[in-house]
Amino acid sequence: PDIDAPAMPWFGMDIGGTLTKLVYFEPRETNRREIDKETEVLKNIRRYLTRNSAYGKTGRRDVHLQMENVKIRGRRGTLHFIRFPTSEVGAFLQLARSKGMADLVNTIYATGGGAYKFEEDFIKEVNMRLEKLDELDALIAGVLYVDSMNAQECYYWAPPDELPVHQHATDSPPYSEAALSLYVRKPYDFSSPYPFLLVNIGSGVSMLVVNAPDDYYRVSGTSLGGGTFLGLCCLLTGCSSFEEAISLAASGDNTTVDKLVRDIYGGDYARFGLPADLVASSFGQMASAERRAKVSREDLARATLVTITNNIGSIARLCASNENIERVVFCGNFLRVNPLSMKLLSYAMSYWSRGALKALFLEHEGYFGAVGCLLHLDL
Ligand code: ADP
Repeated sequence: PDIDAPAMPWFGMDIGGTLTKLVYFEPRETNRREIDKETEVLKNIRRYLTRNSAYGKTGRRDVHLQMENVKIRGRRGTLHFIRFPTSEVGAFLQLARSKGMADLVNTIYATGGGAYKFEEDFIKEVNMRLEKLDELDALIAGVLYVDSMNAQECYYWAPPDELPVHQHATDSPPYSEAALSLYVRKPYDFSSPYPFLLVNIGSGVSMLVVNAPDDYYRVSGTSLGGGTFLGLCCLLTGCSSFEEAISLAASGDNTTVDKLVRDIYGGDYARFGLPADLVASSFGQMASAERRAKVSREDLARATLVTITNNIGSIARLCASNENIERVVFCGNFLRVNPLSMKLLSYAMSYWSRGALKALFLEHEGYFGAVGCLLHLDL
């Protein structure tokens, strides 16, 4: 172990537009006994974090994402993944103060807009200085590190039989539950990934061309992201959480909301290979008062999800083909508990590129920026 390593506890933090992500490194028992003269305060913080999975009203630990036996700066231990709404930063600071954090850590590596916005609150409330890192630097460092530590990190959604989905020009998009349920999750070997397009779907969306660990640039983005999905869903359905929006969408049918090629052509637009079931105009049916009267909350949520997802897919595909890139990696918390969007993106990437593009996903979804900050302890 590195004797110059900073004192425990080790955290990385990403204070995003919607969610704050906190990654905590718990050193292994043997290490602790040998090396740390662990103080009472430190012990209490470790126990509090690792023995609970809920903190206050809104803090959650994603226990299923926990990573055992990882190595950081010569130390082995466990990574814990915690999130809470950024609107609750005040409550988080109070909790941290009540646990004695103000006496321990004086610097925490942080990224995301909130690292700037809340800088003074951290100093005032818990005597903590935020060492700010660029969020895209942190994101890429986090992705590469987590993938190197977890063989199962990267996966894709295989279409039925893994036949190329573009085989028939007018194959229907898989909007039906029956078609979507045929997609199965399979591991993807991401050991030689370059170049790849990294699409981070948070509140907004950033798209990065990554050529090597230290060679990347931001090619594009869109403000129509996860925040837009949730905001529009709340407006249209009266729902009040992301989980509720996703579960409404999961049982809805967007074809009562969207205008399809079929609604306009009566069937396929065969000349240009556009299948009858393809959305021609998102929300296009909602200009009719009669149809509005009949539409359900579930259908509206589904249409919102399909609209936002397909728009992101479409921009990602254009960027990838422009840059001659075959692998498109999607991450960000919009994909949390959201297999529907992942399957739609998988279909869209493959269909519209005639099978040339592959959509890939990462198990730790929205935590890479925070992990990237934790790694900064290495520098
Ligand atoms: P940011 O850093 O901008 O906060 P994230 O990658 O954390 O971005 O993603 C935020 C998005 O994730 C939200 O806009 C929403 O679509 C989705 N999301 C997933 N889980 C939640 C949740 N529990 N609360 C709010 N939004 C969530």
